[in-house]
This record gives sequence, structure tokens and C-alpha cells, in this order.
Amino acid sequence: MAKTKRGRILWSLPSRGRGTCPICSRTRIKLLYPRAKSDGTAIKVCKRCIHAPQDKIDVHAG
Ligand SMILES: [Zn+2]
Repeated sequence: MAKTKRGRILWSLPSRGRGTCPICSRTRIKLLYPRAKSDGTAIKVCKRCIHAPQDKIDVHAG
């Protein structure tokens, strides 16, 4: 499987895979990790928030 979190593939993503993490508010960080809120809404978080508890996802996400 191709690497999807590093290298040239990032440049084909919207904003080149970067943005502001909705959970920790870090800016220009890579948002490559999908999480889902309890209501099923999919959001992307940074590597620091992959393992964030579900309640944190629900509180901070959009
Ligand atoms: Zn984060």
C-alpha cells in the first residue's frame, strides 16, 4: 500500500493535507487522521489527537 501520510501524495490533498486541528487548535499541522463524532460526523485530526478520548472529539469538533 502506498504511503498516504508522507511524501508527494500530500501535495494532492486539499491544503496539502494541512490545516488547523479542531481538537487541539494547532495550526498548519497535518490533518491526516480520521475520527468520528458520536453522531457519526467524520472529522480529521492531527497525529496528537488520534487517540484523544471520544468526549474530547465531541466537545471540540465543529
Ligand atoms: Zn490535534
